[in-house]
Amino acid sequence: MQLAKRLDRLPPYLFVAISQKIAEKRSRGEDVISFGIGDPDLPTPSRVVESLCRAAHDPANHRYPETSGLPQLRQAIALWYKKRFGVVLDSDKEVLPLIGSKEGIGHMALCFIDPGDIALVPDPGYPVYSISTILVGGEPYYMPLRDENGFLPDLGAIPEDVADRARLMWLNYPNNPTSAVADLAFFQKAVDFARRHDLAICHDAAYTEVSLDGYDPPSFLQVPGAKEVGVEFHSLSKTYQMTGWRMGMVVGNATMVDALFRVKSNLDSGIPQAIQCAAIDALGGERDNIVRFNAILRRRRDKLIKALAEIGLEARTPRAAFYIWARVPQGWDSVSFTAKLLDEINIAVTPGIGYGKEGDGYIRFSLTIPDDRLEEGISRLLSWRRNSKSKSG
Ligand SMILES: *Cc1c(COP(=O)(O)O)cnc(C)c1O
Repeated sequence: MQLAKRLDRLPPYLFVAISQKIAEKRSRGEDVISFGIGDPDLPTPSRVVESLCRAAHDPANHRYPETSGLPQLRQAIALWYKKRFGVVLDSDKEVLPLIGSKEGIGHMALCFIDPGDIALVPDPGYPVYSISTILVGGEPYYMPLRDENGFLPDLGAIPEDVADRARLMWLNYPNNPTSAVADLAFFQKAVDFARRHDLAICHDAAYTEVSLDGYDPPSFLQVPGAKEVGVEFHSLSKTYQMTGWRMGMVVGNATMVDALFRVKSNLDSGIPQAIQCAAIDALGGERDNIVRFNAILRRRRDKLIKALAEIGLEARTPRAAFYIWARVPQGWDSVSFTAKLLDEINIAVTPGIGYGKEGDGYIRFSLTIPDDRLEEGISRLLSWRRNSKSKSG
């Protein structure tokens, strides 16, 4: 048999090699503490699980769902957007539930990118933006996210001919992996840029509810004119600790939402309906789980930021999302430093290069690690630093 050539264009999956190394160590009985996983460690709120169990018993939910989702779910999403951001959406034309937002993000390239077309993608960035572009024969153009710009892309630095060939621009704030945030002024610039170059914007807003210090991350759709040029992807994964249930949504520009619907209706048969019922209850319920999770993350952030400062790793204190994006020390790159931490003290982090070339000077720590493991991880880092200091005299 012969596999399609497009598979050769996929980059080697770096994270697989690291997971293998961790698995080998664990099978030898070593205690590896992983700061690598961006997945809430708290369970889904029990009211949501109970709602799912009730819905699972209803035979009406045992049959094929519609790709467009239950009307009540689309309405619940629209109402949530209205309450949370003041953004008004037509629940029939401007809202589409997704099988996790990653699914919709990945399929968007099929709607916009013909062979040779460009998608503007952040570097570092969530790998799906560039890989989906590559899979459909397009070319990612990487917009560097640098510390000196607050990890926002410099839109003025994108060459005119690239901007004119670009069909899509991907943005993601609060950001994975840097945890940087964007304000409405930046989103306004992006909307103006999209108008000028006749391209569409996809804003990945998976982390707007993960906020620390009372910071309130905005929606891209709050900017006047945003809905004319773009959509926003959201997810129940991080917001309601529902990564395992696969429930996300895309909202905004009706043409873009409809294009994704047309592609998806030919590929999938929607989200299991019991999960849609649970999502309606999650979105319509209290925000108590969000408040609790954020308070936990904030405590963990403060502890880890303090420890990293003590061992001389430089990092900004995040106000949203649950990652700490730390510079590797002079003389190291992200892969070699990640390997050193794993080999010497059984601490696993994510090497920044997994998110793009610009990430190579960084490692990512995720705060979604149980408190006792965090404490143990921190004490390993601190004693490692003390030991290497005393060795070097
Ligand atoms: C976690 C995450 C998502 C959400 O993915 P789901 O498929 O909805 O679970 C989307 N974008 C980014 C950047 C993420 O980190």
